[in-house]
Amino acid sequence: EVKSETFLVGKEQAKILYKPRKPNSHKGDYGNILVAGGSYGKMGSVLLTATAAMHTGTGLCTLYIPESGYTIIQTGLPEAMVITDKNAKILSDFPKNFKADTVCFGPGAGTAEETVHSLENFLKKQKTPMLIDADGLNILSQHKGLQDLLPENSILTPHPGELKRLLGKWKDDIEKLKLAKEFSKKYKVIIVIKGTHTMIINRDEIYINTSGNPGMATAGSGDVLSGVITSLLGQKYDPPVAAVLGVYLHGLCGDIIAADEGFEGLTAGMIAQNMGSAFKALF
Ligand code: AMP
Ligand code: MG
Repeated sequence: EVKSETFLVGKEQAKILYKPRKPNSHKGDYGNILVAGGSYGKMGSVLLTATAAMHTGTGLCTLYIPESGYTIIQTGLPEAMVITDKNAKILSDFPKNFKADTVCFGPGAGTAEETVHSLENFLKKQKTPMLIDADGLNILSQHKGLQDLLPENSILTPHPGELKRLLGKWKDDIEKLKLAKEFSKKYKVIIVIKGTHTMIINRDEIYINTSGNPGMATAGSGDVLSGVITSLLGQKYDPPVAAVLGVYLHGLCGDIIAADEGFEGLTAGMIAQNMGSAFKALF
């Protein structure tokens, strides 16, 4: 078996990966992203994702959501544009004649048959690396044939439960990493194993994040991470860099908030709103 190369990710590494904005630039330089997901009663998830993306520097953000989410999103995030699915409560289709630099699929989406069809269409259409999270991952676990459609260098962001559904059971951490590396190589994707010390698996490379705290064990904080990473993908960071830098900045933002609010007071919305403080804290 090939030995892994393992790297710790801290502020020094993040500084090197960060690309400063150019004074002479416009919103077209910072990505046109699409966030697809949400369902009746779970529209907040994609709102958090898109909000985090905007606060990570995205130029243009469009959401693709079930029709009943229209007012929620347009009110909650006036900076974003909305395209609605014909179904009121779940995603069933995909936006035709719409081209984004990258797509995030999954937060709050549910796993209904119609939504499987929606993801399949996104996967068939999308040529550039995209991010799959939450129910997007659960759909991939239930319909393994769709895994072959993943664009090369796409990023998957499972929490432990989603990872277990995707990879099957493992007996210890060593076997977990072995299975994740095999999956990463087979499908040519990057796997972000979320947890206390999130690990980013890119083929035989393993990056271990050092930022973050238990205050981030709260509803929606993963949806925020998806927005951060998708935003960086849209800003043309290489996919492994988008994953590593996104995970670090997300954790750093949580640490900055927790310093004032404590672990208990931290909410996902606060992380989304304050991503700028993490960029500022790099320098
Ligand atoms: P999700 O379960 O999808 O909402 O994702 C949770 C997010 O919060 C991931 O980015 C985790 O890495 C992070 N997180 C959860 N618990 C902790 C913890 N105890 N320490 C650091 N980060 C955490
Ligand atoms: Mg999640």
